[in-house]
Amino acid sequence: MTKSFHLPPLPYDENALAPVISAQTVSFHYGKHHKTYVETLNKLLAGTDFEGRSLEDIIRGTASKTDQASLFNNAAQTWNHTFYWNCMKPGGGGKPPREFAERIDGAFGGFDRFRAEWINTAVEQFGSGWAWLVADGDSLAIARTGNAAVPFTMGLTPLLTIDVWEHAYYLDYQNRRADYVRAVIDKLINWDFAASNFERAAADHSFVPAMSS
Ligand code: FE
Repeated sequence: MTKSFHLPPLPYDENALAPVISAQTVSFHYGKHHKTYVETLNKLLAGTDFEGRSLEDIIRGTASKTDQASLFNNAAQTWNHTFYWNCMKPGGGGKPPREFAERIDGAFGGFDRFRAEWINTAVEQFGSGWAWLVADGDSLAIARTGNAAVPFTMGLTPLLTIDVWEHAYYLDYQNRRADYVRAVIDKLINWDFAASNFERAAADHSFVPAMSS
């Protein structure tokens, strides 16, 4: 019996992130881009040694292997997008829960400095990619990855991400990536998701949020 991956349902309605991210953007981003990554992943997996493995195992097993680049890209983009949808919620943003806010203060010297570093990192990512909050051991850090790359193949645990591929914001913000990133952080970020990822990462440094379905 061949195991295939499924496009998981969005955690909210397509119009739930508006006006920060329009229903039209979510419809294309989830219903076309994300869906195509999942479908392509299933096609590429058929008949390979990776069939039946978890999404995280496939990503770890194909990372940095040039002959597996397509499989890696589609597996990692499947993971990245499922994770991204969970990083946001209607009515999100604002300040993190107190205990996690203290962690951020300790790592970055205050929430405003953390926010500025995340925005700068997202804006400075040249071309397509992702801007992350990660756990690095017991501490927190901002990271960026290009194209489909994920932090957990580099020993960093993803806590939050913002998609900075143009398809994530161009319909709503055109070339104004900074405005999109600022609005996501201030109005959509799901801090409970980040805090829960961090608690699990602090208890087990090899923890990676499972996005298989
Ligand atoms: Fe995307």
